[in-house]
Amino acid sequence: MPMIVTKENLNPYEIVKKQIETAAAKLGLEPHIIEILKRPMRVLSVSFPVKMDDGSIRVFEGYRAQHNDALGPTKGGIRFHPDVTLDEVKALSMWMSFKCAVVGLPYGGGKGGVICDPQTLSRGELERVSRGFIEAISQIIGPDKDIPAPDVYTNSQIMGWMMDTYSRINQSFSPGVITGKPLIIGGSKGRNEATARGCVITIQEAMKKLGRPLKDATVAIQGFGNAGRTAAKLLAELGCKIVAVSDSKGAIYDPNGLDIAKVEHLKDHHALLDYGAEYQIDPSALLELKVDILIPAALENAITSKNADQVQAKIIAEAANGPISPDADRTLTEKGIIVIPDILANAGGVTVSYFEWVQNLMNYYWSEEEVNKKLANIMVQSFHAVYEAAEEHETDLRTAAYIISLKRITEAMKARGWV
Ligand code: GLU
Repeated sequence: MPMIVTKENLNPYEIVKKQIETAAAKLGLEPHIIEILKRPMRVLSVSFPVKMDDGSIRVFEGYRAQHNDALGPTKGGIRFHPDVTLDEVKALSMWMSFKCAVVGLPYGGGKGGVICDPQTLSRGELERVSRGFIEAISQIIGPDKDIPAPDVYTNSQIMGWMMDTYSRINQSFSPGVITGKPLIIGGSKGRNEATARGCVITIQEAMKKLGRPLKDATVAIQGFGNAGRTAAKLLAELGCKIVAVSDSKGAIYDPNGLDIAKVEHLKDHHALLDYGAEYQIDPSALLELKVDILIPAALENAITSKNADQVQAKIIAEAANGPISPDADRTLTEKGIIVIPDILANAGGVTVSYFEWVQNLMNYYWSEEEVNKKLANIMVQSFHAVYEAAEEHETDLRTAAYIISLKRITEAMKARGWV
């Protein structure tokens, strides 16, 4: 008899709906509440023309999804990537809702994306794409409506341009419309490092639970963007051995530990792979290394039913959004691997975005020490709340994190009289 192989559905929107259903079943959530939460409340699809450096006009397409604003204005980044799709942006907006709720921020979830490859755009073109997109979505964003931030391939300079465009349209200086801005125009100290710092705190707490020291723990990191790179630096400072890192061009591995200062220098001035031919490995092999800690810090679906069985890490901290598929999740749990889910592990970014927004609204700014202390409090507390919920409901950390956030969002919807 031929074997029936069912292919895993890796559409992020289908995946997040599955995750909601799993947690909702544990909670016994009413069907109409699940129906509300399974779709974003608003999605805007835009196209806008941009004048390119050679004088030609190119039309760009993008999306902004707002999932649920029961807890407060929607919040979440904008990514620039050639593979952006509407379903991806919808899913990412939903993950933002659960992320904000699990750490107790007064926000709903939103997300935006522009289909483009920023690596092929000049600085001027990038600025015009950024301003064009924010103009196109300006009607539905605002400091008390929906507050964007950086995400994959966007940065503080882009946030600066976007804030400027929004402020000009509204003829009033509005730093609270977007977070992750340059410090000089209302950015927060500690925001750049916040995603990684939060992630590292959850790893520290998980290692404590395992009774293992961080010193000399081995770490592999997929992705060397803002989160991956900063996590490498912070963990190396804590005495971990970063044995492997990768970016979109390849991976390097040294079982004795990579020289992170050198890796950072190479990333800025040459290419990661210039570390040395003898250190290069297949990027997919990085995920299968026998390490204590694995950090997927790139894109969705890094670990799926195809490779989950080969993963040998003890702890996986999802710095990226959605790097593990539901089938892979099941396999990893069966193998006894602790997965710190994205909505908790990478919530440090939006937490300091929240601090940035609060500082913008007060027009009073905190020291880096103050920001980091407040961040650590929230991350430690949230990790333990999720860990305890997992024990109480006899489930994995992801389902436990969803349980906490679904409860909070449902309570807010009930308090507002929606359901
Ligand atoms: N893009 C980040 C995330 O996925 C940060 C969002 C924010 O700061 O609003 O969590």
